[in-house]
Amino acid sequence: MSTENFNPFRMAQAQFDEVADRLNLDEGARGLLRNPMREYHFNIPVRMDDGSVQVFRGFRCQHNDARGPSKGGIRFHPQETIDTVRALSMWMTWKCSVVDIPLGGGKGGVICDPHNLSMREQEQICRGWVRQIVRDVGPLQDVPAPDVMTSPQHMLWMMDEYEAITGGRYPGFITGKPVGMGGSLGRTEATGFGLIFTVREALKQLNIRPQDTVASVQGFGNVAQYAIRLYNQLGGTVTCVSSWDQNDQKGYAFRKTDGIDLDQLLSITDKFGGIDKAKAADLGYEVLDGDQWIEQDVDILLPCALENQINGETVKKISNRVKIVGEGANGPTTPEADKVLEERGIFNIPDFLANAGGVTCSYFEQVQCNMNYYWTKDEVLGKLDQKMTEAFIAVSELAEKHNLYMRKAAYVISVSKVVDACRARGWI
Ligand code: NAD
Repeated sequence: MSTENFNPFRMAQAQFDEVADRLNLDEGARGLLRNPMREYHFNIPVRMDDGSVQVFRGFRCQHNDARGPSKGGIRFHPQETIDTVRALSMWMTWKCSVVDIPLGGGKGGVICDPHNLSMREQEQICRGWVRQIVRDVGPLQDVPAPDVMTSPQHMLWMMDEYEAITGGRYPGFITGKPVGMGGSLGRTEATGFGLIFTVREALKQLNIRPQDTVASVQGFGNVAQYAIRLYNQLGGTVTCVSSWDQNDQKGYAFRKTDGIDLDQLLSITDKFGGIDKAKAADLGYEVLDGDQWIEQDVDILLPCALENQINGETVKKISNRVKIVGEGANGPTTPEADKVLEERGIFNIPDFLANAGGVTCSYFEQVQCNMNYYWTKDEVLGKLDQKMTEAFIAVSELAEKHNLYMRKAAYVISVSKVVDACRARGWI
């Protein structure tokens, strides 16, 4: 979230400026790509269960759609800000480009806290969000998806509202829908699995066997849970995970030095990815302060919760053993911390590559909706592995060829492709 000291949009712009300098982009290209092409701010009035009306603030940013319709999630969060949405829409442009799918970058959000809202109230927010923006989104313009604290159910309500207003059946309007209602098999696993496909490739490059590695993970939501599942299947051991405690309003880290038991922890985790700390302690987990996930003696760090988690301060706590940082979350590493990771020779798998599995599978969902024919889970995950691996190899080859840090190489590839598309269209 954007705070006085951390503004994700300024960070996204700083990252872009650096690559713009490297690519010698002219003022026109910089002017176009430094800001979203379009953004929408609106009110969503909702009749609450107690009869009162509460007005929620909603946003949608379409950063760039030169390569295809905008694509990006909708976040429900009490500290959502327009600058967070702007940054995330920009990162989506780079993400779709780096994995080479024909989509642009978008992002949306609503300032609200689903913890304190009934399902009916959440449904009204979803329907209200669509009513406010219906003219400017759609299968050929801008395709939303779930993100932090939004689920397949939220997507289905949004699709239903869109179809009610437009009078047709448009499953391609939104992705992340429930399976059987236009959703794709494998979407739930996609981001976490995609992250581990890239970690697997990084380990290959470093000549390290997954079974010889240990990891610490921040977050225990959708991305983290499936990342841990696949990492475990490859033979890796997770010794620490952290999550947010809604009652205490703080994070806790849960450590078991011989390896956490994923299914056991899942059985004491709520639907928001919050682990019950009393039950975890009963099961023999050490309950630590939430920040301690980063200082663990591990080979791999997987930030899978929030932005701004590896910053100028916290980066100093990273153990000398760490070889890979795989960014499941969006924007977890600040430019200041990035410099330190680069100097220390830590292999970075940048967010917009590492977590691109979600949008890649969303793209597969759209393709299946358009064909009205759905693939098996193995087909989806096989195609996902292929896309993620190809993207990883393209970035790492460029990084090696020009002796570039992975994030910079990923930026060079993705920004170049977007600039080419804008030029080909005659926009710049
Ligand atoms: P989620 O809501 O399912 O899970 C978030 C997890 O982070 C929860 O376990 C929560 O307890 C934990 N958390 C929150 N604040 C924390 C804190 N201060 N310390 C420790 N843990 C904390 O969300 P998700 O879908 O897993 O997304 C996680 C990140 O990945 C976000 O940055 C999101 O933008 C990004 N992402 C998600 C997807 C996707 O498909 N879900 C795709 C791309 C990127």
